[in-house]
Amino acid sequence: MTNQNPPVSKPMGLLAAAADLLLGAACPGCATPGLGICDGCQERLLAQQPRLLPRPDFPVVSHGPYRPPVSTLINAYKEREAWWLAKTLGAQLAAASAELITAGGLVILVPIPCDPQKIRARGIDPMWRVGRSAQRILSHQAKLPEVRCVRLLRQTRQVAEQSALSRDQRWHNQAGALAVRPYPVPAAAQVIIIDDISTTGATLSEAARALTAARIPLLGGAVIADARIRAAQALGSERGR
Ligand SMILES: [Zn+2]
Repeated sequence: MTNQNPPVSKPMGLLAAAADLLLGAACPGCATPGLGICDGCQERLLAQQPRLLPRPDFPVVSHGPYRPPVSTLINAYKEREAWWLAKTLGAQLAAASAELITAGGLVILVPIPCDPQKIRARGIDPMWRVGRSAQRILSHQAKLPEVRCVRLLRQTRQVAEQSALSRDQRWHNQAGALAVRPYPVPAAAQVIIIDDISTTGATLSEAARALTAARIPLLGGAVIADARIRAAQALGSERGR
């Protein structure tokens, strides 16, 4: 049954197989021995329902809570370089983004920029690759006339790894850390910030601030997983203080 859904697919080709071998030929979602994402994890991914996070400033849709298999897939992708998972993660991001898109016309997906040093060291921009996958899925499967994935944001300074910081430190870490690159964004474009995980929402807020400062209208944000989905209500009240 799961084979009927194209966005969540088995890895294809030699590169994917090699990546899987590097991971010990186990499902990157649950470590069950085998090649690619196991049927159980695929079913859990398909069962997820994207949901709107209650934020006071702009809409953010999460594809689901940050827990296995999504958390382990993101970890395998980013930390163990299982780049073939970009297609699966991109499908989740596409589904979350689709919840925001209201009409035809240009859609611009804007990935949160990664540390340029890390991109140089890895030779890959992980969030960009997931965004490109989401772009292709939205174009072909959702039949949207024009979808772009644009590196519209850049880091103005080095930021610390968010996961190592406290809640307050995360907001300070991100404040003023992003700026907009020159790019002609039509006024009618539906601009969606995309990221892998939302925890405090500090990174998404900083991205929104940078876009607004550049007078770019923002439709909302889309993330693969929300690490605080159960506490989302509390997030809204805290941010409103
Ligand atoms: Zn699995």
